[in-house]
Amino acid sequence: MGFKDFCFKKSLWLFHYGGASCNNCDIEILDCLTPRYDVERFGMKLVGSPRHADVLLVNGSINKRDKDRLLEVYDQMAKPVKVVAVGACGCTGGIFAEGIPFAGPVDKIIPVDAYIPGCPPKPEAIIAGIVKLIETI
Ligand code: SF4
Repeated sequence: MGFKDFCFKKSLWLFHYGGASCNNCDIEILDCLTPRYDVERFGMKLVGSPRHADVLLVNGSINKRDKDRLLEVYDQMAKPVKVVAVGACGCTGGIFAEGIPFAGPVDKIIPVDAYIPGCPPKPEAIIAGIVKLIETI
């Protein structure tokens, strides 16, 4: 394991991008930060800038207006970066996939490394998904 991989493994900083959604997935992601789930015990931290993050969490469907923003955020992140699609909408477009403004699932726009299904996924599922992602690094 190289030095970069060693550092990357233990302290993933996460940036949350919420597309067009019902906001339940956003609430579950934020719930991971509460003392009850305490995601920071795994070395994970939600950060306010994509430039500081190693992982991009994307939930909600991506519509035509979101697409350019998502690409912009992804481009701002230092590579290598891991992308996690959260929720049915993040993974496939979910209930919004038939809508006219839908621009495609996240993996049609940027490369996705992990999928956490559910509508919404529970905080336990989100944390388990990210921990599994860490194991692949
Ligand atoms: S997956 Fe379900 S809970 Fe999450 S944003 Fe879509 S509709 Fe809402």
